[in-house]
Amino acid sequence: MADPCDVCGAAGAMTPLVEVGLPGVGPVWIHRCGGCGVRQVRPRLAPAALDALYGGDYFAPGSAHGFAGYARQRQRYERDAFFLARELRRIAPAGRFLEVGSALGFLLAALAPLGGWEVEGVEVSAFGAWYARDRFGVTVHQGTLERAGLPPAAFDYVLQKDLLEHVTHPRRHLEQTRRIMRPGARLRVITPNGEADVRPLQRAAAESPPDALPVLGQGHLSFFSRAQLLRLLENVGFRVLRVRSIGVRRGLRALGAIPGWRSRTRLMRRVDLTAPAGPAAGEAGRAPERREDQAARIDAEIAAQHRRVRAWRPYFHYRRLLKRFDAVPGALAVGQDFDVLVEKR
Ligand SMILES: [Zn+2]
Repeated sequence: MADPCDVCGAAGAMTPLVEVGLPGVGPVWIHRCGGCGVRQVRPRLAPAALDALYGGDYFAPGSAHGFAGYARQRQRYERDAFFLARELRRIAPAGRFLEVGSALGFLLAALAPLGGWEVEGVEVSAFGAWYARDRFGVTVHQGTLERAGLPPAAFDYVLQKDLLEHVTHPRRHLEQTRRIMRPGARLRVITPNGEADVRPLQRAAAESPPDALPVLGQGHLSFFSRAQLLRLLENVGFRVLRVRSIGVRRGLRALGAIPGWRSRTRLMRRVDLTAPAGPAAGEAGRAPERREDQAARIDAEIAAQHRRVRAWRPYFHYRRLLKRFDAVPGALAVGQDFDVLVEKR
């Protein structure tokens, strides 16, 4: 019965903290561990609820979770891939790279031609995995990392951006990650600063009418402090090489450090929370025509919004410099996200 804490292993010590709404799933409670303080949605979501969140339409432009701006995304990942390729080359001229949570495959597509490294992805969204394979010809395993059945000790570098906060069992997920890595291989985890994530929800919950709940719009299920995140990684068998706080401007706003700034946390009526998350949620991964329509819309937006300046090499360096100014050492947990580099012990 007792479901132990991922970070400290304490069993049965989770207390309710704030009730929030997961569109398409319903009301859920974020709990707090009495042992270490980590916050997490408990009870953990069942696979069916995860499918409702990510199965089909997660990337559809009109769905509750869908994101617009694919062209910007695509060009941002081209930039990220350029710098990532340099980092990989410094490690070794060749190796195997895995991105877990590869979404539409933009990073993999940009990284694949840049060097001697083989790239692969894992993506839970059927549409995302299909799009990446179909449009870019990259290898993407559809499903969770646990279900992908990858061989042990196979990868030299694993990237998990905006992923750990979405998995139902972060410890089990990291154990699986470690299993598929070679000894000494690197793992880079970018995940939200839990405090910056939870605080706007708590503020919105305090102000919302009784029949409404703040929406856990991005579907985050775990909320880590820096100490909790590092403890979890070390417990699983990683050595921490570097921690940074990134997205400082957004983080300060979420933490309420900028006076007069109003949170944009959405509220949703309880009765609407169990309705399907998007138009025909879950269908996109399966119905070929709908899938093609969606993909064509994404392709069209990418083509229409492509900006030459964003593909210009000096612009890459300029944006990287801006990012540097928006980051501080991880000990100052004021950013929107933590950017952690570890290696397998
Ligand atoms: Zn704990």
